[in-house]
Amino acid sequence: MVSTEYERRIAARFATFDQDGNGWIDREDFIAAAKALLTEFAVTARSDKGQALYAGAEAFWQGMAGIADRDGDQRITREEFVTGAVKRLRDNPERFAEIARPFLHAALAVADTDADGRLGVTDTARVLRVFHVPEDIALAAATALDPDGDGLVAETEIVPAFARYFTVPE
Ligand code: CA
Ligand code: CA
Repeated sequence: MVSTEYERRIAARFATFDQDGNGWIDREDFIAAAKALLTEFAVTARSDKGQALYAGAEAFWQGMAGIADRDGDQRITREEFVTGAVKRLRDNPERFAEIARPFLHAALAVADTDADGRLGVTDTARVLRVFHVPEDIALAAATALDPDGDGLVAETEIVPAFARYFTVPE
């Protein structure tokens, strides 16, 4: 049985990847996400951080396409996302962490303006919002990442947390 709650969560994850909202996920969505993050934190595309973010976005797209683009048309439809990505990533969250890590690592470097390897809860929520993670989920997720309540989130916590979010446990 597929629950309505489960379907709602799948739809939210799909919307997070489908940054331009045109109904499928493709390379442009990953480029758009990188661009939006650079704009949010006023980092130029030409900088080392900007270049690393675009390289990570390309690797993330290639990894997702390898998992989910069954017909090889360079687009992941909602159906491909549900039947391919969600199931396979749920079965193998480590694989998701692996393909997402270079992008997330670069994204954190962009957002971690004082370069201490940690992000404030509000900056973490900012990153999540840029990626179209719904507001309530973004704030709850950012707060959950800071169990000792010091207002800082360590990078080592963020990659597994993203993996948990995107692999959508039932
Ligand atoms: Ca799209
Ligand atoms: Ca496809």
